[in-house]
Amino acid sequence: MTVVPPKTSAAPPWSSWQLRAACRGEDTTIFYLHDGERGPSARRHEAEAKRICAQCPVLEECLSWALEAREPWGVWGGLTPQERSQLLLIEAG
Ligand code: SF4
Repeated sequence: MTVVPPKTSAAPPWSSWQLRAACRGEDTTIFYLHDGERGPSARRHEAEAKRICAQCPVLEECLSWALEAREPWGVWGGLTPQERSQLLLIEAG
């Protein structure tokens, strides 16, 4: 992924971890569902993004940022928006 994601105004502030991101230089559309994309197509799309995240050396930093920012779109830190929401609910107890 390039540093600034395409579908959010809550782009992370510049951080050195972004330089080491496995998605750096990748097509950013991999990380965001198309409008109206659902079902098996959405699952395949998210799985493609997660495969890249799974090899990322800065997954923890990315996920921390996405959770803190309540990033509503896209796969960040290997998790979908729904998965991040669930994690936040669990953490909130
Ligand atoms: S965890 Fe995924 S979205 Fe985050 S920087 Fe790494 S490859 Fe990119």
